[in-house]
Amino acid sequence: MALDEEAVEKIIKAGEIGARVRELATSLVKPGASAREVCSRVEEYTLELGAKPAFPCNFSVNEVAAHYTPGLDDDVRLTGVEVVKIDVGVHVDGYIADTAATVDLSGVNGPLLDAARSALEQVVRIMKPNIRVYDIGKAVEAAIKKHGYRPVRNLTGHTIGRWIIHAGTQIPNYPDRTTFHKRLRPGTLVAVEPFATNGRGLVRDGGVVNIYSYTGKRGRYKLSPEEEEVLEYIVENYKTLPFTPRWLLERFDKETITQAIRTLTAKGIIYPYPILVEASKGLVSQFEHTFLILEDRVIVTTCRDCQ
Ligand code: MN
Ligand code: MN
Repeated sequence: MALDEEAVEKIIKAGEIGARVRELATSLVKPGASAREVCSRVEEYTLELGAKPAFPCNFSVNEVAAHYTPGLDDDVRLTGVEVVKIDVGVHVDGYIADTAATVDLSGVNGPLLDAARSALEQVVRIMKPNIRVYDIGKAVEAAIKKHGYRPVRNLTGHTIGRWIIHAGTQIPNYPDRTTFHKRLRPGTLVAVEPFATNGRGLVRDGGVVNIYSYTGKRGRYKLSPEEEEVLEYIVENYKTLPFTPRWLLERFDKETITQAIRTLTAKGIIYPYPILVEASKGLVSQFEHTFLILEDRVIVTTCRDCQ
């Protein structure tokens, strides 16, 4: 990513807003709260602070590791015994901050949270310009195992581009041999997100899809005027960033949205992100920060206590 002074300023601003939004989100995770209430408030707060959501607020409970956000008709209400991952993304003019934290309402899963939290803290300590991706994975796995848990092997951190949430390089949560020669160069914006579990350490497709993104490929398909209008709205408002059909209710009715999403997905114009569930129904915890790698130092953009 080309990083002039203005870009760095916007990346830092996004990070500060991301941290505040994450803090509000975790404070709202309480018995009786619903994903819809929390996510609506979180997304509204993002706008109040002068940023925009970079993706829908993720509210993933227990064995759901990632990618749940309330849909047009479904919601999750907390009873008070859950492990809740809140993952928020904000952007300032396309410059993204991606950050997550876990709240334990059960009162008995503190150690599971400590595992992922301490893994992320360890990454904050070792992160430096030109660090090997392999060494990050090694540190994450070691911290999680030390607490008696497993990392989720098929969920990774990722580099971030302008308007691009997954910019190409993955940051595995274990020492993956294929990343041995890969280094994080100055000018890289990268999210690191350790996931810890008491299950197998793998996630699978959970079927439900409430998050999509425009693939950038309109193709030559014949769409109905309504489908065309929905697509135009998506491209104009979210570009290629992930969105949720719930957001489209601002402009369209439920039936129009449902039909358009179905067609656009079938034609490969938008891409679905299904919820990801731990393969053995293990509980999952997650913590995440965004790191800006500069020539001579690293800024943890979403961490107020790390600087
Ligand atoms: Mn995230
Ligand atoms: Mn991420």
